Amino acid sequence: MRYFSTRDKAKKHPFSFSEAVFKGLAPDKGLFMPENIPALPPSFFDGLCTMSLSETGRRVLYPFMKDEISEDQLHEIIEETLNFPIPLNKVSSSSFALELYHGPTFAFKDVGARFLARCMSHFSSKDARKTRVLVATSGDTGSAVAQGFYKVPGIEVVILYPAGKISRFQEQQMTTLGGNITALEIDGTFDDCQRMVKEAFADSELNENIRLTSANSINIARLLPQSIYYYHAVAQWQEMGMEGNPVISVPSGNYGNLSAGLIAAETGLQVAHFLACSNINDTVPDYLNSGKYHPKDSRQTISNAMDVGDPSNFERMLHLFGGSYEAMKKTISGYSFTDRQTRDAIVQAFSEENYILDPHGAVGYLGLKDYIGKNGGKGIFLETAHPYKFKTVVEEETGEKLKPVTEFGDKTKKSFEMQADYSSFRSFLTEMN
Ligand SMILES: *Cc1c(COP(=O)(O)O)cnc(C)c1O
Repeated sequence: MRYFSTRDKAKKHPFSFSEAVFKGLAPDKGLFMPENIPALPPSFFDGLCTMSLSETGRRVLYPFMKDEISEDQLHEIIEETLNFPIPLNKVSSSSFALELYHGPTFAFKDVGARFLARCMSHFSSKDARKTRVLVATSGDTGSAVAQGFYKVPGIEVVILYPAGKISRFQEQQMTTLGGNITALEIDGTFDDCQRMVKEAFADSELNENIRLTSANSINIARLLPQSIYYYHAVAQWQEMGMEGNPVISVPSGNYGNLSAGLIAAETGLQVAHFLACSNINDTVPDYLNSGKYHPKDSRQTISNAMDVGDPSNFERMLHLFGGSYEAMKKTISGYSFTDRQTRDAIVQAFSEENYILDPHGAVGYLGLKDYIGKNGGKGIFLETAHPYKFKTVVEEETGEKLKPVTEFGDKTKKSFEMQADYSSFRSFLTEMN
């Protein structure tokens, strides 16, 4: 399978899967997409119900990387990626939660980060250079990447985070691992961290002996494995004896999760309709209603992993519909909800259904409820984070004390403090060798 940039309309510059993985972003600043999305055979869908999560994963992903990864190797990568359950839980008679938060950092980003780490490790074993992943983070990405790459052979990870500007929980997830994960506590802002990483990528001398790469959420190897749980959701739906195809509601920020669902539908997965649900950062729902795309500044909300005003994967969504607004509108409806509505949904789901939502899942739940109320049918919303990760809001609204999900105990924090300047960062990287 060849990969092209979403901006290379004439398909002049093909890339292999591994090139797309290590580059992350295409040289023309577009996003990598597979040349085509092959349909899966009817026999696959007939057997979906009885397949294990990892078998589903292997069969779904193999066509996208078969020139570069054998079926056995892919099976191993997927077994290590999806080593936690992704259950479909009944919330009410018409809505079901796909719980994507049972991984190591309690959010769905674990799926993509773990898969990317193992793909990089697989390809690195064929290169004499060391591979070093540089990540600037304002919180969540860093912890998912750190946990995803932890103990993965052949890869070192250096994470830069702004001192004092991330939560204690996130800091613990990045700084207590050790091993191949190094955390740098930068005396500056997230933008400083990002600038230092960009300078390192542009430093050709530094790049001669080590392969520097990123683990951004736009990486195609983070996106593709996310399609697996859409099949797994439908498999569980059928197993529960549900009739008809589910509506699937996706709480969205950068729209990687929804794009993965659209890819699954393109291979033949039967989904009644998709819902793109956002908080007040409503650039995409606005586009779905008006046909006009106006990027905005992001605004802070209680579902803060979705505070994105100019979602990077919108370009992929448009690409999947051949650039047609009309086609996209037929498949996806957009919703946007305020923090007040989100808090009310947490209260309502708890008091009426005895189900605890996190603020992100609550946005998906609201969209699904509204859509089904108007159009009938039944559906699934994605629960993207564990309620405990947003315990302040959730405890306020439900009045329940949540059980802690991890005990970091007295594991010691290990990080290196650094000024926000490139020369310190550069010497650090050179001395690591
Ligand atoms: C990242 C994230 C989202 C948004 O997912 P996208 O793929 O960026 O749309 C939603 N919920 C949680 C908890 C997240 O961490």
